[in-house]
Amino acid sequence: MSTMTDFAADFAPGSVWLVGAGPGHAGLLTLQAHAALQAADIIVYDALVGDDILALAPEETPREYAGKRGGKPSPKQADISLRLIQLARQGKRVLRLKGGDPFVFGRGGEEALTLVQAGVPFRICPGITAGIGGLAFAGIPLTHRDTNHAITMITGHDATGNVTGVDWDAVAKGSPALVLYMAIKHIGAISEKLIAAGRPASEPVAVVTNASLPEMSVLETSLGNAATDIERHNVKPPAIVAIGEIVRLRSGLDWLGAASGKVLEPDPLSLGRDDSEQTG
Ligand code: SAH
Repeated sequence: MSTMTDFAADFAPGSVWLVGAGPGHAGLLTLQAHAALQAADIIVYDALVGDDILALAPEETPREYAGKRGGKPSPKQADISLRLIQLARQGKRVLRLKGGDPFVFGRGGEEALTLVQAGVPFRICPGITAGIGGLAFAGIPLTHRDTNHAITMITGHDATGNVTGVDWDAVAKGSPALVLYMAIKHIGAISEKLIAAGRPASEPVAVVTNASLPEMSVLETSLGNAATDIERHNVKPPAIVAIGEIVRLRSGLDWLGAASGKVLEPDPLSLGRDDSEQTG
C-alpha cells in the first residue's frame, strides 16, 4: 500500500484500477482517483463521468467510452470486461473510471470478478456515491437523529429492467429514509407500492437531477404526486430520489441555495428546539 501521497507509484503496468469518480463535481474525486488520472496509460470511462473530470488527465492519454445508457446502443458488459483484460495484458495501466462508487449499483463487482478469473491484478478505489454526495449537494442529509436511524438504498431497475426484485412492502416498513437510484422510469409503480404498504401519500420526496453539477436541479414533491410532477417537469436521468422526513431538512440545509440568496429555515422539522440557548 502507498503512503499518503504516492498512490500513483502503486499503479502497476498490466493492472486495472476500478475507480469511482463521484457524482460529477470534480472536487468530489478522491486523491487516489486524481493520481490514477495522471498515471494511467488508458482511461475506460462510463456515461456519467463528465468532461471536467476527464480533463484532469494529460491530454495525450487515450480515452475509451464504455458507457451504458438505457435505451441507447451501448457496449455489452462482457465486452467491457474483455476489453479491460486485453488492455491489461498489453502491459497498460488501465483506469476504469465509473460514476459515483464502483461498488454501488455500478457493476464494479462484476467487472472485478472477471479480472479475477483472468488473473489480472486490480485495485478498487471507492468514490462518493450519488445517493450520499449528490444529496448533500442538495442539502439533504441521509440521517438526522430526529428523522431516521436507518437508510435503504435501492435501485429502481433490477437486472431485468423492472422493479420486481425488491420487496417493497418490507422496504416501506423497514426504513424511514429511502434513496432510489435509476428510479425515474418506474417512479409511478414504486410510489404506488410504497403507499399501498402504508407510507403516507403526503410523505416528502426530492428528485435531484445532475447532482453536484452546474446543471443540478431539485424537484420537491410528495409520494402521491411524484410521478405526475416528474412527468410535468420533464425530469430526465440521472436523478436520485430521496423519500422521507430527511427531505424536509432541505429548507434548512440548502447551502447552495443560501449561497445565492435563499433564506434558510433554522427549524425545518418544526421541533421548536433552539440549540443556541442550550448551554450544556
Ligand atoms: N455507481 C454510481 C451509480 C450508478 S447507477 C454511484 O455510486 O453513484 C446510475 C444512477 O446513479 C443514475 O441513474 C442515478 O440514479 C444515479 N446518479 C449518478 N450520478 C448522479 C448525479 N450526478 N445526479 C443524480 N443521480 C445520479
